Amino acid sequence: MSKMNNVTAQARSGATLTIDIGAVRANYRLLRERAHPAACSAVVKSDAYGLGAAQVAPALYQEGCRHFFVAHLEEGISLRPHLAPDASIFVLHGPPVGTEGEFTRHELTPVLNSAPQVAGWRAHAAALDRELDAIVQVDTGMSRMGMSAQEIDGWLADAHFLDGIKVLYLMSHLACADERYHPANAQQLARFLEIRARLPQYACSLANSSGVFLSPDYHFELVRPGAALYGITPQAGEPNPLQSVVRLQGKVIQTRSINAGDHVGYSCRYTATGPCVVATVSVGYADGWLRSMSNQGVAVIDGVRVPQVGAISMDSITLDVSNIDAARVAPGQLVDLICPEHPVDAVAAMAHTIGYEVLTNLGGRYFRIYTGLAPGAT
Ligand SMILES: *Cc1c(COP(=O)(O)O)cnc(C)c1O
Repeated sequence: MSKMNNVTAQARSGATLTIDIGAVRANYRLLRERAHPAACSAVVKSDAYGLGAAQVAPALYQEGCRHFFVAHLEEGISLRPHLAPDASIFVLHGPPVGTEGEFTRHELTPVLNSAPQVAGWRAHAAALDRELDAIVQVDTGMSRMGMSAQEIDGWLADAHFLDGIKVLYLMSHLACADERYHPANAQQLARFLEIRARLPQYACSLANSSGVFLSPDYHFELVRPGAALYGITPQAGEPNPLQSVVRLQGKVIQTRSINAGDHVGYSCRYTATGPCVVATVSVGYADGWLRSMSNQGVAVIDGVRVPQVGAISMDSITLDVSNIDAARVAPGQLVDLICPEHPVDAVAAMAHTIGYEVLTNLGGRYFRIYTGLAPGAT
């Protein structure tokens, strides 16, 4: 695409989303250092948390990452052409019933979460007459995915349970790792250690992003950060050691002056208490700008925070820009909705949710700019 086409596409769109791949790379290096000597994988499910797996995964491969996780088989199939054959792609949900052949066809490795998934993979290995890799997940207290205590007993009682399956990692997942002092962390670690003691031959993986920032006891042989790669804070209430990755800039459509008693937006959820200037910006809940931020959110204009007033519409929001110079909020001007001074976690707090939900909702209508795609670029 020529530069002129870029400018035109940006001019046509309602907002610009800039994704700093250089910051993703730096975050990966920091996580890898924290986790050393454990290997550091990258979780790129849901299109790398909305930021673009086709851009993120190859950049992290260049940084030395060789283990990638997606949630669905379909995501793994889409990712495979973007990575060299020596990169493993693990599918967290395992094979949907009857899809084992797709895994070997596309060189994907399943996370096996239940005895039936193990049985399906075992049968596939027998049919191909070769050994197949897998990760086996065990439940340590989340009651979501992974083999139950009974299934593990059955495994240990059956010498043929893993016939034809080479287990690369024994894996589990933490429920509360973002709260350093939550008692569930130590409970899950203890349960995982008990299971490992019964299956001592396997390498292990427990930590997500937040788990990397708990003690090294949680690291084992492989860590699995996702959110931290994308700049989301790993420990609630602690300084964020990661670089900010996302900048979202909405475009002003128009401004108007209103008076005390005038209403703003759907359901008249805001009423002016005095004369003020309202700017309408072309980002709305259809772009993932969550409607729960109605009357709550802020935008940042040259470092000045301006309040979002009224309900979030499908395609627009309204800001009180009374304190901003008129030229700075003229039609076509850009205002920051996510930026280092107002990062994803702060946006999430205003929407009463978590940074993960803000990122994974970022919409398809934004004009996207990627920086730092080449190694060493900033
Ligand atoms: C999503 C996911 C991760 C990554 O979690 P973050 O909190 O984003 O680091 C790791 N492991 C499993 C099993 C997951 O589902």
